[in-house]
Amino acid sequence: MSSPSAAVQHLLDLLAVEGLSGREGRVAEAVVAKLRAAGVPAAAITSDDVHRQIPGDFERGNLIVRLPGTRPGPRLLFSSHLDTVPLCRGARPILRGRRIVTDQSTGLGADNRTAVAALVNLAETLHRERLPHPPLTLLFTVGEEAGLWGARYVDPEDLGRPVMGFNIDGGEANEICLGAIGAHRWEVNVRGHAAHAGVHPENGVSAALIAARGVAALASGGWFGRIRKGRRTGTANVGVIRGGEATNQVTDHVWIKGESRSHDPAFLEVISTRIRSAFEQAATSVSDARGRTGRVEFDLRRDYRAFRLADDAPVVTRTAAALRRLRLRPQLKVTDGGLDANYLNEKGIPTVTLGAGQHHPHTVEEYADLREFDQCCRLLVTLATAVD
Ligand SMILES: [Zn+2]
Repeated sequence: MSSPSAAVQHLLDLLAVEGLSGREGRVAEAVVAKLRAAGVPAAAITSDDVHRQIPGDFERGNLIVRLPGTRPGPRLLFSSHLDTVPLCRGARPILRGRRIVTDQSTGLGADNRTAVAALVNLAETLHRERLPHPPLTLLFTVGEEAGLWGARYVDPEDLGRPVMGFNIDGGEANEICLGAIGAHRWEVNVRGHAAHAGVHPENGVSAALIAARGVAALASGGWFGRIRKGRRTGTANVGVIRGGEATNQVTDHVWIKGESRSHDPAFLEVISTRIRSAFEQAATSVSDARGRTGRVEFDLRRDYRAFRLADDAPVVTRTAAALRRLRLRPQLKVTDGGLDANYLNEKGIPTVTLGAGQHHPHTVEEYADLREFDQCCRLLVTLATAVD
């Protein structure tokens, strides 16, 4: 059996380093060591301090590598996220034919180490083969899986103001993701009034009843689950409901947490407004003997914004041309998940997302397809060296 290629060896090495969201220190060190060995000067490698802004306990910021151009041209960005989901804790990669798998007691972390390895391979190949390229920025973000945190807070100045971006995070190498959904997260605190449920239930206002009526109204109005209103679409979910203390007490507080999503930013606002008014109306529909009603506090967090690049945007046509040069058929798609690219686009860097051969992410069946990984590696070199 032949030994794995240099790129596959990078992938195997990086898959073996644990790096859950917030704990990307070791994998960042492994990437830096590989980049240094590949000939990237230490001065080109920096880190930002976004971890000071990220809620929770993050040990480091984004890793940012700015490679000077060996020919003039506008700067290009290549990005990938360093972190993996908790299911990948203790993952041990196993090379099996043209795949890398696990023993199925953990996830693998091909999401997104295939991309991280492809970026390392890019820097190494450019240096080794002395390929002329414009200035490049390699961005390795933290906390993607926990809420796109690294991309959310990255400063475009630190990236050297690239004119376009290629974010690597997904399945097949020939798929160009040029749009992604936007999302809101919301919380409702439903306030009722407590009373003895057996002796004087009429003196209470049940937050449980308000919550139930609110959710039922959403469902009957078509604002729950998959939402279709004419040509406008989205989704809404009530993910968490907690409340109540005892069976003999009219529930005075229920806490509800949910989300809304849509590719249409205006419609996303409509969905969240409908959710808010459903709970507000439910609160006034429940009253006690004295006419007191319940009330709700609604908190909305605009998580990330939808984007949709034009089919003929320069970043899309450049990617499509590079794929054709590799005899791959470009396929355009949009996704219902959030991506680092949502924030990169929001910050004014038109960014597509490409695949590097990761499959079944966030499951124990996760694997890396090495044929697709190899295609992604070649695609990145083609993108970085293409003459506009
Ligand atoms: Zn990912």
